[in-house]
Amino acid sequence: MKKITIAIDGYSSSGKSSMAKALAHSIGYRYIDSGAMYRAVTLYAMRNGMILPDGSVDVNALINDLPEINVDFKIEDGRQITLLNGENVEMEIRQLPVSNNVSLVAAIPAVRHYLVERQQAFGRDKGIVMDGRDIGTTVFPDAELKIFVNASAETRALRRVKELSEKGQQVSYEEVLANVVKRDHIDETREESPLRRANDAIDLDNSSMTVDQQNEWLMNLYNSRVN
Ligand code: C5P
Repeated sequence: MKKITIAIDGYSSSGKSSMAKALAHSIGYRYIDSGAMYRAVTLYAMRNGMILPDGSVDVNALINDLPEINVDFKIEDGRQITLLNGENVEMEIRQLPVSNNVSLVAAIPAVRHYLVERQQAFGRDKGIVMDGRDIGTTVFPDAELKIFVNASAETRALRRVKELSEKGQQVSYEEVLANVVKRDHIDETREESPLRRANDAIDLDNSSMTVDQQNEWLMNLYNSRVN
């Protein structure tokens, strides 16, 4: 069967990672979480004093260090783990301090160029499902299947609170909602490859869908593209 490239873009906490992961698992494709790559670079910036007291990013210092920032993935117990210069940072990059800074770091053009190149290298041989904000528009504009996922900000914040609490992190709904809305705004209005639906993407609003329903929806679409 021919291998294709699948791009899944959408708003934060829209459930795109879960559906991308599930599809990749079912069809034996590689899954790449591009958001994890921006999160890992953000963690590097935070650890190295590049997030300044006023909340802005020391852009020059970060650009200077980019060649030394290696973001990769490995599979451990069937789960994908994000590595920052070889260190497992999977837990840390999901926490709110990183979420609060990531959109600013992801708005820096040099950071985007650096990570987009890496993402394109991951997808060179196709057979990949990648999720993010600009996968269908910038990273893989020729992807055979593009999905754009959305759900209301309130639904997404509720999902995120549940997800974090299952991981043992107690956060308030208001705090998470504020973060989701703020990230949407920065992602949509940045100059360099803003969050945008590709013209040839298929829309999915999953506000009232179960996880199984959305997985089935995606699997049917995939089958229609490869058969
Ligand atoms: O997908 P996730 O919410 O983990 O992504 C974290 C952040 O990384 C997003 O809010 C966005 O600012 C940035 N991002 C991006 N482009 C991507 C993936 C993520 O700008 N392709």
